[in-house]
Amino acid sequence: MSQGPVTSPGPVTSPDPVTSPDPVTSPGTAGHRAVAAVEHAVKGPVFDCRMCGQCVLHSTGMTCPMTCPKTLRNGPCGGVREDGRCEVDPSMRCVWLRAFERSRRLPWRGHFTDLRPPVDNRLAGSSSWINLLTGRDRRTPPGWQP
Ligand code: SF4
Repeated sequence: MSQGPVTSPGPVTSPDPVTSPDPVTSPGTAGHRAVAAVEHAVKGPVFDCRMCGQCVLHSTGMTCPMTCPKTLRNGPCGGVREDGRCEVDPSMRCVWLRAFERSRRLPWRGHFTDLRPPVDNRLAGSSSWINLLTGRDRRTPPGWQP
């Protein structure tokens, strides 16, 4: 008896909370939206949080990198002005200069040089607290190598 070609089952993937919703932890669900609202209420006034869903405040001197006009996650661009102002918005000091200065005062200052992965924009508006607990914030875009 002949058998057909053997086919590969394909790569094993874990469920993606974005496409396989859990009632509490998945973005878009009522539970997640409620936690995200609380997170925004707390971190918005304190850190000017933009709700990227992948918080890296601990390694950026508690300075939100999403307030950089270029939303850079790994340090300043080459356009910082001589006086430390932003080339895009000269009314503001470079977010990354501020992040560096503030990070020096923290016991965990060594994390400042961590290489942060690109932002996963699918998590925009979701709760970074939940994404931290579920590990969703540590899932990097395909092809990205640290
Ligand atoms: S890094 Fe993201 S989650 Fe953290 S404060 Fe900035 S916008 Fe908010």
